[in-house]
Amino acid sequence: MADNKLYQALGVSRTASDSEIRRSYRKLAKEYHPDKNPAAGDKFKEISFAYEVLTDPQKREIYDRYGMKGLQEGDNNFAGAEDLFGHFFGGGGPFGGLFGGFGGGFRNAQRRGPRRGENTIHKLKVSLEDLYNGKVSKLQLSKNTICTACGGEGGPAGALQPCRNCNGRGVKVTITQLGPGMVQQMQSRCPECDGEGEVINERDRCQVCMGRKVTPQTKLLEVHVDKGMKDEQRITFRGEGDQMPGVEPGDVIIVLQEKPHEAFQRSGSDLMMKQTITLTEALCGFSRVVKHLDGRNLLIKHPPGSVLVPGCVRGIEKEGMPFHKNPFEKGDLYVRIEVEFPDNYFASEGKLKELEAILGGRPAAPALPEDAEEVNMSDIEETPSMGGNRGQYYDEDDDHPHMGGQHVQCAHQ
Ligand SMILES: [Zn+2]
Ligand SMILES: [Zn+2]
Repeated sequence: MADNKLYQALGVSRTASDSEIRRSYRKLAKEYHPDKNPAAGDKFKEISFAYEVLTDPQKREIYDRYGMKGLQEGDNNFAGAEDLFGHFFGGGGPFGGLFGGFGGGFRNAQRRGPRRGENTIHKLKVSLEDLYNGKVSKLQLSKNTICTACGGEGGPAGALQPCRNCNGRGVKVTITQLGPGMVQQMQSRCPECDGEGEVINERDRCQVCMGRKVTPQTKLLEVHVDKGMKDEQRITFRGEGDQMPGVEPGDVIIVLQEKPHEAFQRSGSDLMMKQTITLTEALCGFSRVVKHLDGRNLLIKHPPGSVLVPGCVRGIEKEGMPFHKNPFEKGDLYVRIEVEFPDNYFASEGKLKELEAILGGRPAAPALPEDAEEVNMSDIEETPSMGGNRGQYYDEDDDHPHMGGQHVQCAHQ
């Protein structure tokens, strides 16, 4: 395992970073290129090979552990160590897609440049009043911030050491011998350094963050719920997510959740409400006071003589929700009229005649065919199903139909 030839070829140390290797290769390649230096053909091949292996994280891992022998074995595999990697880590091949997700963490660990932290999503319940009037909600949340005591280093300068368990790469490779000349390789996040590639000695750890580099902080966010905002609307606080050294913090995203309202239902920028009135009011007019979402009392009037049919809808212009970003414009308010009929109207016969006269009399009774059968209408709880056989059948020995399990008796005997 002391095979160091490839590092020596490029004149770098075993712990050299990717960019150091690339830099050194470029310098040497210029020097030994066959066009310039035809006598150094072998040297050029050597540095090219070293470069190819050491800039490929998988190959470098194998070389670090098993030396040149490991690389040769890998190349002679029936599947080839390379192919296995290709398959497992989404590098193409028929299983690339299948195992794409598996390799995600690995790729993250390998990628250079700032990573981006995850977004934090919070739900915020808001009333319809809040969405009508606008509101500033204060939201307290806990987030990790870079430790101010150690500046996110986790300890004093130089305390950070490359993790020995993973050679500072944050990734562990497990190679299992499946059979003669066959190896399987698996990569996983290094448990020693939690994928960071660096560790701090226990006694060197920053006392404030215990070497975690971050400390939890309570942060107060002012969420501006603007007039006319909608259910599920998102308010984004850029970069307010958890901080971590070398990681660009994600966003905090507030998702509004509109609470149901007792009186109003919302449909986009329109509002809908129900108003229950009596039969007398439906015929003779009514006036009602309705409290709007901003506390104003709206006087709703309907003139006598213009009949309101149960379920009819009347509109009031510009009394709906304000438009988002244009709150002086508003949608409409729709009022659905429900008419409460009297339960039973037991008035004297004289009163009924009077009522009949007021309402304009009844159509004359139809001429009765001779074979008309008089039946009773009574309350039937269950509505007989239309078009199906359910609940309707004839007994063999009598021809009384049964509907919905209830015996319907013929009045004509
Ligand atoms: Zn600290
Ligand atoms: Zn490690």
